[in-house]
Amino acid sequence: MRRTPLFLRWLPMPILTAPLALLVLIGLVFAVALPLSQRIRPSSADAAPMPVPAPIDGNRAFKYLTQICEIGPRPAGSAANAKQRALVSAHFQKMGAKVTEQPFTGQDPRSDKQVAMVNLVGSWHPERKERVVIGAHYDTRPFPDEERNPELRSIPFIGANDGASGVALLMEMAHHLKTLPTSWGIDLVLFDGEELVYGRDGEYFLGSKEFARVYVEGVDGRHADFNYEAGLVLDMVGGKNLKIQQEPHSLNLAPKLVKEVWAVARQLKATAFHNRIGRAVMDDHLPLNNGGIPTIDLIDFDYPYWHTSQDLPKNCSGDSMAEVGRVVTAWLSQPRTRGR
Ligand SMILES: [Zn+2]
Repeated sequence: MRRTPLFLRWLPMPILTAPLALLVLIGLVFAVALPLSQRIRPSSADAAPMPVPAPIDGNRAFKYLTQICEIGPRPAGSAANAKQRALVSAHFQKMGAKVTEQPFTGQDPRSDKQVAMVNLVGSWHPERKERVVIGAHYDTRPFPDEERNPELRSIPFIGANDGASGVALLMEMAHHLKTLPTSWGIDLVLFDGEELVYGRDGEYFLGSKEFARVYVEGVDGRHADFNYEAGLVLDMVGGKNLKIQQEPHSLNLAPKLVKEVWAVARQLKATAFHNRIGRAVMDDHLPLNNGGIPTIDLIDFDYPYWHTSQDLPKNCSGDSMAEVGRVVTAWLSQPRTRGR
């Protein structure tokens, strides 16, 4: 905001008719204020350089999605879940990441049995102290409990969008992180135990809670020697006709990050990002915010096959994932700003 220039206060306003005064004012604004404002605000958001996305390959992202779905249902603690983790771990390493695992124990709410769970962390530029975490859950829900047909509620759930899309996009982004012009250290994280839940109620987000706990408390008394400056959670980013709205908890907890990401989306004309507030969603971004990491959730919660037997690759699109990947990598390449 600029103050009204002083000389305007000395205009002989009473002797001018209103239309004439208006014309004079408009003339003055164009003659003086605009060029001046352009000269003195070169670093404002309006004049931000065009963000440059990585050349994200939507077809390849979609191939990863189908590859993950072919493993079958991947609930926490299952052999399929471990197989997926091994696949992504090998991929991250091949793409130049340092990979670490965070093992922890959850509980199956139905059997009360202990369930071995693991978060997977792929780190690019591990020496950098200012880092961004980009996460997605990789476990799938045990059953498609939102299925309208009760008989279908007991069949295994594939989770092409709810589960595989976020992981597949992380795998695609991994191709570009070694060469991406960014000053951040980047951690791509697979959260386990996001939804080992059988009905609507239960304990969600076991993996992201553990991830935040380790970040805050450290391991064996040794605390992290870096800071997470920002976090992005990718969930259900692969549906056809993708529509990502600003999620209210994200807006409350990390408003600046929402603004930055949507500004990049606007500049890239990424039309999947809608400039309006969507429904509030509880997701892995909440535990991360609790752990002091300003994190937003990029999610299409209007996906019609959410938690149904039809959450399948045929209802997903590589173009959708590519658009999100372009916005995220372009945001990572932006000059850094403080505070979120
Ligand atoms: Zn889900």
